[in-house]
Amino acid sequence: MTTVAAYAAPAPKAPLERTTIERREVGEYDVLIDIKYAGICHSDIHTGREEWGTALFPLVPGHEIAGVVAEVGPGVTRFAVGDHVGVGCMVDSCRECDNCKAGLEQHCTGSLGMVGTYNARGRDGEPTYGGYAQKIVVDENYVLRIPDGLSLDVAAPLLCAGITTYSPLRSAGVGPGKKVAVLGMGGLGHMAVKIAHAMGAEVTVLSQSLRKKNDGLKLGADHYYATSDQKTFDRLAGSFDVILSTVSVALDFDDYLSLLKTGGVLMNVGAPEHPVSVNLFSLIMGNKKLAGSLIGGIAETQEMLDFCAEHGLGAEIELIRADQVNEAWDRVVASDVRYRFVIDAATI
Ligand code: NAP
Ligand code: ZN
Ligand code: ZN
Repeated sequence: MTTVAAYAAPAPKAPLERTTIERREVGEYDVLIDIKYAGICHSDIHTGREEWGTALFPLVPGHEIAGVVAEVGPGVTRFAVGDHVGVGCMVDSCRECDNCKAGLEQHCTGSLGMVGTYNARGRDGEPTYGGYAQKIVVDENYVLRIPDGLSLDVAAPLLCAGITTYSPLRSAGVGPGKKVAVLGMGGLGHMAVKIAHAMGAEVTVLSQSLRKKNDGLKLGADHYYATSDQKTFDRLAGSFDVILSTVSVALDFDDYLSLLKTGGVLMNVGAPEHPVSVNLFSLIMGNKKLAGSLIGGIAETQEMLDFCAEHGLGAEIELIRADQVNEAWDRVVASDVRYRFVIDAATI
């Protein structure tokens, strides 16, 4: 066991504080990673504030991890000391079920299930602790390679915000000739804008206000509208092939379904605390689809990292010290983030 410093919430809704945790010994197939940067995802906050139900405390959040390999177990073949690597939302799964074999480890149906990077128990029965820490030990099969072209600070958020938007954009067939709207331009949303633009689509941002319009256009959006303005809904009715919702609160989905073309799809990745209700006529009229998407599998996460490196896409980040994490969480909840807070792990 190795003792490492970390930031943890001791109890639901309590502020995070500096503490120490134990990491397991480096096993045969394990990689010890010196964490350099950890992104702050809104899911960290939903979990820490128990908006999704009971969580395991103390809670060390963080599933957008970028760092450098410090040690490898004797059976490790894919990584060597000094490699730039990342860890996303999961650190293990059963590896035997149909979903694991199909590269959908996030939907593992085996008895182990997807083991979250934090707020879960690993196969040893011990709680997992996430990336707001100095080091982490992870089985090599759940470690990603960060390509040379991406610096670690802007790569960290790709491990969740990047894959969570890349995967549904890909599965919805986004590319040249497609009109895509990104709903909410926070951590996930701003990566969706960059990725959809790089895929060749015509991209529209639907944000609460026009405050971030210049940024949105610079990130690759072709159009930008405020959802607080009712005229937006009249003007854009029936416009989009795909809408990707990244909003962290419950919205009126009927309003957004009205913006889809016939046969269009609203892909939702936002995970608000409260349910939404949908008038089924919003789907029936126009053969529209409402779909969900959970992060992405390991192989697809590597594909996303390679795609981002090829297109020069990193996150827009605000680098913070670890002792600013509580303030950063409040700013994320207030939609005051441009566009991802990243903890400099050297300050832990
Ligand atoms: P974030 O940075 O807080 O972005 C959320 C955006 O939603 C905000 O920037 C804001 O965009 C919009 N929003 C917030 N409050 C709103 C309100 N009251 N009305 C309308 N729009 C509002 O959060 P994130 O880290 O991108 O995560 C977004 C959501 O996705 C969270 O619920 C998170 O848990 C979830 N998530 C899901 C997955 C998955 O696998 N499905 C993975 C990661 C995260 P504007 O300011 O532009 O309006
Ligand atoms: Zn996340
Ligand atoms: Zn499985």
